[in-house]
Order: sequence, then structure tokens, then C-alpha cells
Amino acid sequence: MLKLKNVSKFYYSNGVIASGFSKVNLELNMGEFVVITGESGSGKSTLLNVLSGLDTYEEGEMYINGEETSHYNESDFEEYRRRYVGNIFQNFNLVNSYTVYQNVELALILNGESRKEAKEKITNIIEKVGLSDFANTKCSKLSGGQKQRVAIARALAKETPIIVADEPTGNLDSKSAEEVVKLLSEISKDKLVIIVTHNFEQVEQYATRLIKMHDGKILEDKVLEKPEVEEGDSSRDFADITVANRLLLGARNAFNIPAKFILIFAVFMFISFAVAGTYSSFQKMEYEESAYGYNMFFNNASDDRIVINKPDKSAITDEEFKAIEALDNVKRIAKDDLLVDYSESISDEEYWYSFYGNFVDLKDFEGELSMGRMPENPYEIIIEGRSDDYYLSEGTEDLFEKNFYLDRYDESGERKLETPFKIVGIVLNDNIRGWQSTYYVGEEIMKELRERSAVERSNIKSLFEGEYYDTMNGEPNFHVTPSDIVPKGEAYVSSELNDLTQNGNCVGKSIVISAENIYSSDSLTVKISKTYNKGNFKKLMGEDFKESKMGLIYINSEDYNNLVNKGTFQSSVFVENVKTLDDTTASLKEMGFNTLVMRESLSSEGAEIKQIISMMKTFALAVLVIALFFISYFIIRIILKSRNSYYTTLRTLGASRKISKQLLDIELFLLATLAYGVFMIAMLLVYGGVITQGYIMDLAGYLKPVNYVIMYVVIIAMSYLISHKFAKKLFKDSVMNTYREEA
Ligand code: ADP
Ligand code: MG
Repeated sequence: MLKLKNVSKFYYSNGVIASGFSKVNLELNMGEFVVITGESGSGKSTLLNVLSGLDTYEEGEMYINGEETSHYNESDFEEYRRRYVGNIFQNFNLVNSYTVYQNVELALILNGESRKEAKEKITNIIEKVGLSDFANTKCSKLSGGQKQRVAIARALAKETPIIVADEPTGNLDSKSAEEVVKLLSEISKDKLVIIVTHNFEQVEQYATRLIKMHDGKILEDKVLEKPEVEEGDSSRDFADITVANRLLLGARNAFNIPAKFILIFAVFMFISFAVAGTYSSFQKMEYEESAYGYNMFFNNASDDRIVINKPDKSAITDEEFKAIEALDNVKRIAKDDLLVDYSESISDEEYWYSFYGNFVDLKDFEGELSMGRMPENPYEIIIEGRSDDYYLSEGTEDLFEKNFYLDRYDESGERKLETPFKIVGIVLNDNIRGWQSTYYVGEEIMKELRERSAVERSNIKSLFEGEYYDTMNGEPNFHVTPSDIVPKGEAYVSSELNDLTQNGNCVGKSIVISAENIYSSDSLTVKISKTYNKGNFKKLMGEDFKESKMGLIYINSEDYNNLVNKGTFQSSVFVENVKTLDDTTASLKEMGFNTLVMRESLSSEGAEIKQIISMMKTFALAVLVIALFFISYFIIRIILKSRNSYYTTLRTLGASRKISKQLLDIELFLLATLAYGVFMIAMLLVYGGVITQGYIMDLAGYLKPVNYVIMYVVIIAMSYLISHKFAKKLFKDSVMNTYREEA
């Protein structure tokens, strides 16, 4: 079965060569119960380790079943151990955190058996070694004798032809020792059992062969009894551990030592929070950097605004507005985009109070009033501004009583006091950047503003008697003005227009009025039916005459509206949450809109800083990840150090390096995933509003789903690298060296 020819084993340590044993010749056969004795240091353990493939030899030849082994590499010896050898050690080498059953099971599932298959066998073997009552007891709770019986059960379960026991009774009282030896002899009938002991008397009655060692040499080799068993390859069949059992062992190892579990879990929690903290603080910096700035073309550069229009420059339909409104994260739509950038001052008659701001439809008001009440009629409004505006926060004594007017001036520069309205509610909001207030106004005022802005953006020209007159700069004025008095299709003009005609009478002549903007152009032909002058103005138009009104062209209001108001071509969408603005923009693009994201169109200084931050982010995150890796490797190595023996045990049971490492990979993967899962739950609780702790909220606020995925990948990669580095160190040596290092 096993044959040694002039085999020597040397140890090299610190440049000194020591001899383990030298020039040993030996042939061992099936059915033998071989006892090796000799004083301490004589080379018994060394010989046993070489025989069982746990250690290498330097000289001579070793044959296994007639096969020479000098060309064997690590994995050949692994296979040899799996096929042939069951080990029993003086210090048991059990997995203390496993139960008796799990220890025996380990030997079987590592060699490819299914747990179901193994069950009956394990139960029988545990019964055979007399530990049925302790099957589910953790090994750490057993006595020495019991532990050694578990070790024997484990070696038996493997069903290998060779069983090797190094001083199995060394740590036992004499009664336990006797039981263990008896057990070993019972199983030796059809096996080769090699046992090392100080105490020959203990095993004398069972031994079939006695080998005495001294100073690394065999002093005596005596056959006491001829074995009856026939030679033959009775090696055990084996397969690799199944994937399911790898996961099972990985999970068992992750959780079965509470203190270790908590420590490693804490390390991964720490990693999760550290990475997320850094990541999110950079996201925050980036975000804040881009939120400030200005835009040359847009007055309202608020960061929650997306300007949209259609590529074909057609008007946005009501259905489209409905669809936009239905999108997640859309707070409101300012249908008429120009109104968003349109600001105006409002003041009371004596200019005691004066505010400058932007108009928003009262329907879109969602906040809470700080003072006053909600509007009850079309001419009551709410004003929203910063609390450091004295007139909104402290000096409000008679603000609510005053009549307010839009600060508009007519052509002569005189203030126009149009329909008065009242401020009835105040909202203080310090999140407003800059100094613009917001007025929440009813549909009436909104409509008027919309019409005004439509006119302001349209280029209106009049063609009269072959000449074009610009609405704004024409001479005479040619300012087209809507009026409810003028019938459709007609125009009332100043009598001065008579001078522009050949026959001195403009009545009955046509004016072609055209209005165009970047989206649409249209024209309208009206017939002059009446002329006005200073004398008949009041009677004709129903309002007081003013010098500035000379030259205006009055046309029917509806005609005017049809010409100028061609629908909404450009709108602004305001989002609820700026952090997910990109998603909303993507949805709008999918719906076919052109989009302009206000915060991305801000001044270029912001963009440069953003780029610098982005570079810094990558660099800092890389440094952080590397630093975290070493810190956590250092900590996890200390925590796992106590588990070296576990991996050595796995390997004496026949697990390859690869499998042992995989189990560690799985263990750390599970712990990292669990820690990250708990971290994610914390984040979800923040989003769900359950956790309101400041730091965690800040953390969650700037992270997007893709960031979470990236972080998970980073953390799993880290756990893998930690496992890899640890395994590399752990499996650097042959199995025995790892044992020795621990001792
Ligand atoms: P035994 O088991 O009979 O007590 P060992 O086989 O453990 O003896 O040791 C045999 C010899 O080899 C001793 O001289 C011991 O000092 C030496 N030896 C054992 N292990 C090592 C090692 N790892 N490094 C150096 N020398 C060793
Ligand atoms: Mg020894």
C-alpha cells in the first residue's frame, strides 16, 4: 500500500537545516495496525505527516499503491489525501463552532456527497462512536475523550483505506484513551491504521506491527501479526463539493460564531457608510456648485426648471400637458414659459410697499401661509418672499389693506393704475435664491399677463398703402391695440392716417396687420371704418383722450387675440425633486420634446468647478477605497486569524485550496451583502420618511439608484479582494506549516 525507500525529510528554518527523519525504508500494508513509538523529537510526527501527504519529503522515493510520487504536486497530494487518508490528531482539529453532526457531515460534503445521502451514514457512525446523545452539541462543549471520538467518527465517515492518528490519546485520561484505542482497533480490520503513541502498553493488545524510532531513524520494525486482508486499490471515490453545499458552508461560517459575525458585519457596515458618505458629499458639492450661477437669456434660473418645446415648433396640446402632468416628480407646469422669466413690480398707490417678482398660477400654490388667508376672489393674491424682506415679515401693519397695482407706464411715461388687487396672504420662504418674490394670482390676472407677454414677444407690423409700419417705432405710432368697441374685421384709426393716403381719406382702406414670432406668423386684413381725433375720441372709444393715444390702431379684441395668441409653444416644467431631474428630463425627451435644463445651462465658471470636483471625486473615492481596503483587511485578518485552523481542517479533510478559498469568498460576500442590505434598508427608511436623522438624511439625499449599484459593486469587489489576500497568505504554506505557525 505505502512504501518508503530511503526517504529523508529536512526542515529549513532561518538558514539552519534540521533533519526530521533520514533514510527511512518502510512498507505498510492493508489490514495492519501499525504502532510507531519513540521519544519526543525522534521524528514520529514528521514521518506520519509525510505518509499522509500533509508534508513534503526531500529525498528518496515514496510509493502509493506502487506509484512513485516524486513528481506529485500540491494538487496530486490533495487528491491522495482525499482518496486515501483519514487523519486523527492529538489536538483533535475539530471545528469547535460546529456540532458533532456538522463536523462529521463536513468530511462527507467536502467530498461531494449530498447532505441527504450522508444523513443515515452520519447517524450510524455517531452511534458507533457512542455520541448519539451529543449529535447536536457544539464540539466546544465536549470533553477531550468525546472530541477524539468525534475525530474518529469523522475519519471513519470518509471511508478511506488509511487512517493516520498522531498521539490520539495524548490529551486523554486513561479510561477515555482505552476506549479510543479500542475503537481504532475495531475499525482497523480492513484498513491500514497507523498510530503514533508514547504509551505502547495502551495499544499493545491490538497492534499487528511495532516501529520504534530514534533520532530520525527507524530503530526497530517488528511484525507482531500477519494481516489477512488482500491488497488492492480500495481508495475512496470522491467528487467536488456541490455548489449548494458550498453556499451552505459559506453561510454557516458567516453566522455560526456570533462575535466574529458581529465584528465583520460591523466592518462592512463601516465600509458602506464611509463609501456612501464620501460619495454623497461629493454629489452634494457637485450639485450645489451647479445650482448657482446665472443665465444670460433666462431671468428665472431656478434649478428645478426644465424648458421644453417641440422640434417641429408646433403648439403644445392639452393632451401633452396632461401627459407631462402625470409624470413622476413634476411639481407644476408653467404653460407659458415667457411668463416664468417675466417679472414685474407691484406697488400700492403711494409706493409705501413695493415688490418685484414673478407670477405663478394660484392653482399651483402648494405651500402653507405664514400670514393672512387664501384668496377668495380673482383680485386677491398671495405673495411669497424671503423672511429678510422687512415688509413681508415685520412691517406688515397695513399691507393687507392697501390696493396694489402693476407698475406699468403708458407711452408718455405716466403710471397706469389698472384694476387694483389686494395682497391677502404671505408665505415666507428662505429657500428662494435671489430677491424675486412670487405672486400667486388667479386666472384673470394670469390671462392678462399671458396676453401681454404674447404681444411683447410678437413682432407686429402693419402694411398700409404699400408701406410697412413697425408697431413700436412707427411714425405715426401705428400701435395695434385691442378694443371691445371695434367690430370684427374693422379698425378705428387716427385721422392723421388720412395724410398718408393719396386722396386724403383713409376710411374704407385696408390695413394688413401681421404678427410673427419664432414659432408662428399670421396676418389679418382689417378695413378702416372710422377715424378718431381729439374731439371725438371719448365719444367713439369710451375712454378719456390722451396725447399718447394718438396714432393707435384699434381693432376688435377677438381679432387681436386670434392674431397674437397662437397657443403655447414653449413651456417650463418644474420638478419636485431636483436630484432626480435627469430622469424627468429623459422622460420628457422620450415624449418628443426638446429640453433645456436650466441648471445645466448656467454660467461656464460653474462648469469648470464641476469638472474639478468630478476629478477630485474620482481621486478621493479611489484613495478612500484603497485606504478602506487596507484598514478592513487588517481588521478582518485579525478577526479571521482564529480561523486558520478551520481552513487547515478543511484541507486535511480533502478540500482543495480553491474550494477553501471559495468558502471564504462566500462567507465574506454574504456578510458584505447583509451589511449593505441593512445600509440600504436605512436609506429606504429615509426615503420613506421613517428615519429623519440629519446625517443619514443628508447621505440619502444625494444618492441615485445607479450610485447604490456602483457602491454595492465596489463593496463586493472589496470583500472579494480581502478574501483573496487573506487566502493567499493562509494557503502560502503546506498544510503542516500552517498548523505549526499556530502552535
Ligand atoms: P516527534 O513527533 O517524534 O516528537 P517530530 O517529528 O515532531 O518528533 O520532530 C522531529 C525533528 O524534527 C525534531 O528534531 C524537531 O525539532 C524537528 N522539527 C519538527 N518540526 C520542525 C519544523 N517545523 N522546523 C524545524 N524543525 C522541525
Ligand atoms: Mg510528535
